[in-house]
Amino acid sequence: MPVFDIDSLRKILELEQKKGYSDSAVIGGLDKFMRQWAEKAIQGITDHALLLKFQKLHLRDSKYASLPKEGRQKWIKNVLDFAAEMEHGKVEKPAPIRKISAKLERPPLKPKTSAIVSGQTLDASITTIKGISTSFAGKFGKLGVKTIRDLLYFFPNRHLDYSQMKTVSQLREGQEETIVANVWEAKITMPGGRRSTEAIVGDETGNVRAMWFNNPYLAKTLTPNMKIVLSGKVRLFNGRFVFESPEWEPMEEGDLIHTGRLVPVYPLTEGLHQRQTRKMIKGIVDLWANRIPDFLPIAVKEHCQLIALPQAITQAHYPDNIDLKDKARVRLAFDELFLLQLGVLSKKRDWQESQPGVPININQKIMDCFLRSLPFKLTLAQKKVLTEILGDMQKSQAMSRLLQGEVGSGKTVVATAALLTAVADGYQTALMAPTEILAEQHFATIHKLLSAVGRMETEGNHLYTYSGILSGPLTIALLIGAMTAKNKREIHQLIVNGEIDIVIGTHAIIQKEVEFKKLGFVVVDEQHRFGVAQRSILRQKGTNPHVLAMTATPIPRTLALTIYGDLDLSVIDELPPGRQLIKTKWLRPNQRDSAYNFIRKEIAGGHQAFIICPLIEESETIQARAAVAEYEHLSREVFPNLRMGLLHGRMAAKDKEKVMQQFHEKELDILVSTPVIEVGIDVPNATVMMVESADRFGLSQLHQFRGRVGRGPAQSYCILLSQNPSEVGQERLSVIETVHNGFRLAEEDLRLRGPGEFFGTRQSGLPDLRMAKLSDVALLELARNEAERLFAKDRHLTNPEHAPLVKELARVWTTEIEELS
Ligand code: ADP
Ligand code: MG
Repeated sequence: MPVFDIDSLRKILELEQKKGYSDSAVIGGLDKFMRQWAEKAIQGITDHALLLKFQKLHLRDSKYASLPKEGRQKWIKNVLDFAAEMEHGKVEKPAPIRKISAKLERPPLKPKTSAIVSGQTLDASITTIKGISTSFAGKFGKLGVKTIRDLLYFFPNRHLDYSQMKTVSQLREGQEETIVANVWEAKITMPGGRRSTEAIVGDETGNVRAMWFNNPYLAKTLTPNMKIVLSGKVRLFNGRFVFESPEWEPMEEGDLIHTGRLVPVYPLTEGLHQRQTRKMIKGIVDLWANRIPDFLPIAVKEHCQLIALPQAITQAHYPDNIDLKDKARVRLAFDELFLLQLGVLSKKRDWQESQPGVPININQKIMDCFLRSLPFKLTLAQKKVLTEILGDMQKSQAMSRLLQGEVGSGKTVVATAALLTAVADGYQTALMAPTEILAEQHFATIHKLLSAVGRMETEGNHLYTYSGILSGPLTIALLIGAMTAKNKREIHQLIVNGEIDIVIGTHAIIQKEVEFKKLGFVVVDEQHRFGVAQRSILRQKGTNPHVLAMTATPIPRTLALTIYGDLDLSVIDELPPGRQLIKTKWLRPNQRDSAYNFIRKEIAGGHQAFIICPLIEESETIQARAAVAEYEHLSREVFPNLRMGLLHGRMAAKDKEKVMQQFHEKELDILVSTPVIEVGIDVPNATVMMVESADRFGLSQLHQFRGRVGRGPAQSYCILLSQNPSEVGQERLSVIETVHNGFRLAEEDLRLRGPGEFFGTRQSGLPDLRMAKLSDVALLELARNEAERLFAKDRHLTNPEHAPLVKELARVWTTEIEELS
């Protein structure tokens, strides 16, 4: 309890009397002294009658100096009387400490005032709720909340723990505390010129001040003797405790909403207020949560030990305790993941059943021939995935498989083996790459591989024919936008006639002019670079061909199960032997010159270098401008004698291709590039990858950059520069320096940055995950297993017991489940 000295007060007042009420008893005047004294005193006055007297004296706003002489006499007498009364022990004796109950006992619930309007359902607009104005509803609309059900599912993003009741004497500085207290006084004050409310509240153990800045209205609402619950941060101000803008609510109004419990904090938009929202949602939850049908099959609920849906929704908003709050999250997160898995699995089922695929026979002799012709042996990982792929191709269900493997892990060889298998059984095939350069590269690679098995017979325009592989000729063709119209037309014609066995190209392959005679198998490289629509068009070009998607971006399993849950996954998790490790070094800003010197030395040795410009998020235009500036600076000031090239997203496609081609042909020493351009080309002669502001990139992306070098025999290097990395940035940089495994980096990335940033943009077509996190690995696996178990028992979910689930599925997957493969 704060100290205040009644004795010295009395002495000063008596001295003032002796001095003839001349306001000379204390230096600075009596008012100043009085106000200070009163501020301290009020915290110690717990007796209600005494407090009222104290307030009547207005000592905290003492105006002694302005009184005439008689007024001063009377004033001093009153204060002395009051001091005497205080001294009579009412204050000094220690106040009893109230027994604390962790949970507040409250009067029973009042009957509900709001009620369900007739005909109102969970899917009724929130405008049908009594007391919700159109403008209020409009603001919720902006948050995507349109119906009563949406509101039930509009979860807080956190809770304040105001569940522990304290007494005033137990308050601790800097803590979030909750007390039940009487309002003694509330008035408008002007701290810092802002009209605010200041109140003194207290219980039997003491008083404490509460301030609500910029809120003078409360002064009227908080009437003396009102009993309130107060929750908020306690600060020390001038040696005294004060609640700063605490949450509060009257004690006697049904359930606590803002205080005295785990209090929800909702993610709001402008014009929506926590108090108003909490109150409204509390009403909705009380009225509606029990009416929400629990769609989970009982067996699933029991097997996974999940709480009931109405309870989960109630507890997610207004939890009784932390344990129930967690249980609610688990139940709701499970729902999201389970519905997601059911969605992707049912999509896969429909797609497999709607159109039978063509089973492809494997010609073991040709396969053996091909494998023997390779200058190396397949790694174990390559063999494993090839077996998986060939296994799929033999089925009458079309394959839909995602092949993941780091750059250089040997995906192309595996894909070629599969292409050859389909061709050997009489089918046409296609390989689609995201850029012309990559398509050309694939064309050259496949040409090389096939030349080793058979003999090249004819070489036409973008067209090679081989003998000695199949019983007849085998023809491959390139189809890219850069080819002349005449050339393209020729290729189109040959494709229609069925005279081309393997078409390698860009999205030029999926133009409508391109018709296949008998397309049986399609490989999509770097599949994340293609839009969903493009992939499905390709699929429609044949009688449901087998599709193999490939990516060099390792995706953590949880993410893959979610985003590509309808695909089967294959992973090449080992690199061919003898691959060099790319020496990776994070340099401090003052080491920039030595980095430049290093680049000069490598180029003098006949090699080439990449320089990646900093990531600038504003726009591609600004990014491009910055890259141009950096390019000019480097060309003029740093590397005036070297041949420099520039690549950015604002360049025309053919200019981009030209620069890449020049770099590829060693006509350039250094390629300066923005990060938006994934430099997806194979330049074995490049040995240095320098990345500016490396801390701003994700690990996976840095790993991709790094994978651009080290593709030839010479030792290669990755130099990471960073001005002033954050803590997470520093962690990332030291991880990438030492870890060279793409999957491990991807997992780290997911851990450090979360899934949102993992792909840069949110994948469309998937339901929202609000409660589930992609780090919920165990829960995700559980949901996946449960979904698979359910499909095993009831493949089409026709069992009447599963009707509510089917309804929920249809609701969650509102937009037609998009083609994700
Ligand atoms: P990816 O497409 O996964 O990036 P590629 O198939 O292009 O990888 O292979 C990268 C390089 O490694 C190529 O030069 C290829 O010939 C070679 N390669 C592939 N598999 C092996 C292997 N098992 N052993 C040795 N070298 C291999
Ligand atoms: Mg590749």
